[in-house]
Amino acid sequence: MNASKLKIYQFPCRQDNYGVILHDPQSGTTISIDAPETEAVGDVLESKGLKLTHILTTHHHGDHVEGNEALKSEYGCTIIGPAEEAAKIPGLDQSYGHGDTFDIAGHRIEVIGTPGHTLGQIAYYLPDQGVVFCADALFALGCGRIFEGTPEMMFTALERLAALPAETLVYAGHEYTLANAKFALSVDPDNSQLADRAREIEVMRDNGKPTLPTTLELELQTNPFLRADDPAIRKFLGMESHSDLDVFTEIRARKDRF
Ligand code: ZN
Ligand code: FE
Repeated sequence: MNASKLKIYQFPCRQDNYGVILHDPQSGTTISIDAPETEAVGDVLESKGLKLTHILTTHHHGDHVEGNEALKSEYGCTIIGPAEEAAKIPGLDQSYGHGDTFDIAGHRIEVIGTPGHTLGQIAYYLPDQGVVFCADALFALGCGRIFEGTPEMMFTALERLAALPAETLVYAGHEYTLANAKFALSVDPDNSQLADRAREIEVMRDNGKPTLPTTLELELQTNPFLRADDPAIRKFLGMESHSDLDVFTEIRARKDRF
């Protein structure tokens, strides 16, 4: 096992996506989490003098796989992605599903199935680094839109992520946090931690700072999509006797209309 710290470079690209590059200085291994934009990923690699060895694809949407083929032909990197949408991932070499583990340069990577946004989306958890890359499943103060799956799938996906250690650093696919904060306050108006965080986020965005990564702990305290069991939210929605899944489904439906 190789427990040495990976360097993590997060950068904005496209409209509101984040790209992330991981680099292991010992082995030279360099991993791109998704490939949202060929040029943006290439620029970061070039500026750091890195040679891309792997792409870890989370799901098939164009804003996550756009760079797969061009980066593969430039660097000859290995592309790893979700087994359940293997046919839709350009350049795929290896695929995995929920519960699988593999390692790259001695770093253990656990695959967490997070369907809902798409049917086969996966997240990558690196226990020795304490980080998870969950793309369009869990966002800071939000969760992905349910395009292909059901609310139940997304609820289960978020439960899986929420079960990781509280201090886990969470990297997500998009900078949606300011809009998510406004929505979160609309269903959890008396949460003072959320109100404080919303103010901080406004300042961060005014200063052009990223609001990601976040931590699971912070999300558990302030993200309404992880708080369907919270008495204040349930009361606010008039759903005290409903199941957590019902409450989650209602919150997701409200966000779609917000
Ligand atoms: Zn997506
Ligand atoms: Fe996306």
